[in-house]
Amino acid sequence: MKRRNFSKILTSSTLVFNMNSLNQLDKYAQELASTDRMPVLFLGHGSPMNAIEENEFVDGFRALAKTLPHPKAILCVSAHWYTRGSKVTAMENPPTIHDFGGFPRALFEVQYPAPGSPELAQETKDLLDPVMVELDETWGLDHGAWSVIKHLYPKADVPVIELSIDYTKPAAWHYQLAQQLRHLRDKGILIIGSGNIIHNLRMVDFANFNRDNYGYDWAIEAREILNGWLLDGNYEALLIDRPEEQSLRLAIPTPDHYLPLVYSLGLQQKGEEISLFNDKLLAGSLSMTSAKIS
Ligand code: ZN
Repeated sequence: MKRRNFSKILTSSTLVFNMNSLNQLDKYAQELASTDRMPVLFLGHGSPMNAIEENEFVDGFRALAKTLPHPKAILCVSAHWYTRGSKVTAMENPPTIHDFGGFPRALFEVQYPAPGSPELAQETKDLLDPVMVELDETWGLDHGAWSVIKHLYPKADVPVIELSIDYTKPAAWHYQLAQQLRHLRDKGILIIGSGNIIHNLRMVDFANFNRDNYGYDWAIEAREILNGWLLDGNYEALLIDRPEEQSLRLAIPTPDHYLPLVYSLGLQQKGEEISLFNDKLLAGSLSMTSAKIS
C-alpha cells in the first residue's frame, strides 16, 4: 500500500514536472520569437522628392522592407536633427515636419502619421545614461525620417521615435553611444541611420540630377575608399572627423549627413555582415549608398 502510494506520488509529480517543463519550453519559445535580433539600417535619403517620386532608390527601399522582420517600433537617427546635446522625441503623436524649402506643394502636403513611443524614448534615455538625453516634445519626424520610412511602412502603423545628433561631439563618441543601444535590437526595435555618405550640397549638379550613377571624379574616388572600408570592416578609418584625403574632404564637408552611418556601424555585432544597396552616385556630389547590417 505504501509502495503503491509512493509510485502514485512519483507518477503525479513526474506529470507536474513534465507540464512545468512544457510551460517553460513554451515560454522560452515565445521569448525567442520576440527577441529575434532586428537588422540595422543606414539609408541614403537624398532629395526630399524621393518621398513622392517613383525611382530606383524608392524601389530599393521597398525591396529592402520585404526582407525585414516586422518591427515593434523604429528609432531613427536623422541627419536633419542636429542639436547641442542629445535629444529623443517623446511625444505620443510626432508631427510631420516639412524642413525644406523650394519644393512642390505636393511634398508639403505629405503627412506621415506614425505614432510615437514615449516608453521607447524613456528606455533610450535610460540606456544612454550617463549621457544626458533630453525627452523632447517639440520636434517630430523630419524628412530624413519620414521620406524614407514612408516607403518601408506606408501604412504608418509602426511607432517611430528620433534620436538627435549632438554636433559638439566627434565621430568616435557617436560610435560609442550607438553601442549602448544594441540591446534594443533584441527587443524588436529597428534602428535606422538616415543621411548620405557622400553629401556636398554646394556642388550638386542640378542639370544632371537624373543622369544614372553620375559622380565627379572625387566622388567616385571617395565612394571607392569608403565602400572599401565598409566592406572590409575597417571602422577605425570610418570614424572620420576631419578627413585628410582631398576626395573625402569634398565628400564629407560637414559631418551631419555622415554621422547617421556611424550610429549604424556602432550597432553591428560580432559575426554580422554589412550589405550595400542603392549604391549609386547622384548629381555629381551625392551618394545614395545604403546598408543593411544583419
Ligand atoms: Zn538630407
